[in-house]
Amino acid sequence: ANSYLGSIGTTIFTVMSALAVEHRSINLGQGFPDTEGPRDIVQAAADALMDGRNQYPPMPGLPELRQAVAAANRRFYGLDVDWAREVTVTSGATEAITACLMAVIDPGDEVVLIEPLYDTYVPVVRMLGAIPRIVRLTPPHWDLPRDQLAAAFGPKTKAILFNSPMNPCGKVFTMEELAFIAGLVAQWDSYAICDEVYEHLVFDGARHIPLMTLPGLRERTMRIGSAGKTFSLTGWKVGYVTAGAALTPLVQKAHQNLTFTTAPNLQRAVAAGLSRDDAYFASLATSLQARRDQLAAGLAKVGLSVLPTAGTYFITTDFAPLGFDGDDVVFCRHITEAAGVTAIPVSAFYDEPGAPRHYARFAFCKRPEILEEAIARLKRHF
Ligand code: PMP
Ligand code: GLN
Repeated sequence: ANSYLGSIGTTIFTVMSALAVEHRSINLGQGFPDTEGPRDIVQAAADALMDGRNQYPPMPGLPELRQAVAAANRRFYGLDVDWAREVTVTSGATEAITACLMAVIDPGDEVVLIEPLYDTYVPVVRMLGAIPRIVRLTPPHWDLPRDQLAAAFGPKTKAILFNSPMNPCGKVFTMEELAFIAGLVAQWDSYAICDEVYEHLVFDGARHIPLMTLPGLRERTMRIGSAGKTFSLTGWKVGYVTAGAALTPLVQKAHQNLTFTTAPNLQRAVAAGLSRDDAYFASLATSLQARRDQLAAGLAKVGLSVLPTAGTYFITTDFAPLGFDGDDVVFCRHITEAAGVTAIPVSAFYDEPGAPRHYARFAFCKRPEILEEAIARLKRHF
């Protein structure tokens, strides 16, 4: 076995979803909506299949989708993007993350990461022979320790891999924090790989600000989006990278050796989706915000301490007030088996020892009646 992969376990999302199925539990673990994405987008994919869009599309992605990504960059963030030289379509954000790292990383380079972090980041950084330099946010408000972040950057830093809005803790980084990060990226002449899959899932009038829009960052940034989150179609795995004209050919060389292309009918449908009016994007966020509020209020009534969430599909909770005897892994298994509700232990989003062990993450991208039933089950149990 590969000496690194042999040492890591199966992803927590697979483990907890299997456990949820086994116990017929309501799965508020793995983040996926329980309703279909917009009917017209699904229909566009079906139509494209029947139209004979079934052979290899162009390696960098269908022009119509790359044009739609460029137009969305302009419409939402005022970014002026040349679709032909600065956009690449990938098979999900997951491939995009790997392709962007491959574009700039040599073995021995350092990559700055912020913990808690999405569970693919560290394995991919390590598989490329790079060294993760991890900085931990401070709960319960997930504050950024700026001195520690500054100390993580240095002459060996090649990139920061940065996620906002942030899974699992629902943090949306502020302009001041982004400016601080941007300053370090520029100071150390490095790159920013920005995982912005939750860019349209921000609440309470908060605004997502791409790091790419900050002064000096336009040519240093690879900005990643995902149709899975933007159109509630997580199984589609259509992602896109916006990067400067110098970086894009490198991203594409990685992409051509990873997957080469992405299903053409899905690309065409996502292009149609990105052209939807502002009302679609606004209602996506308001609908999720209502369900966030519903689940947060319910979990608080159960007795959990609910941490603030400004974006994403997720609420993190501190279950210490329940007086439960066991860590977060034990807690999440226990509520699956004994209450019929599944959550994800937040320690799964930490690489190094010393992770907090009293937080559980619940997904609220579910129908209101399902959230209500989950809350009722937890109330009966605790
Ligand atoms: N990044 C983050 C932070 C995520 O939460 C996810 C998963 N949902 C992904 C990337 C993967 O996105 P995709 O399904 O498009 O590969
Ligand atoms: N991003 C999803 C989550 O955090 C899971 C994606 C996956 O299963 N790999 O729940």
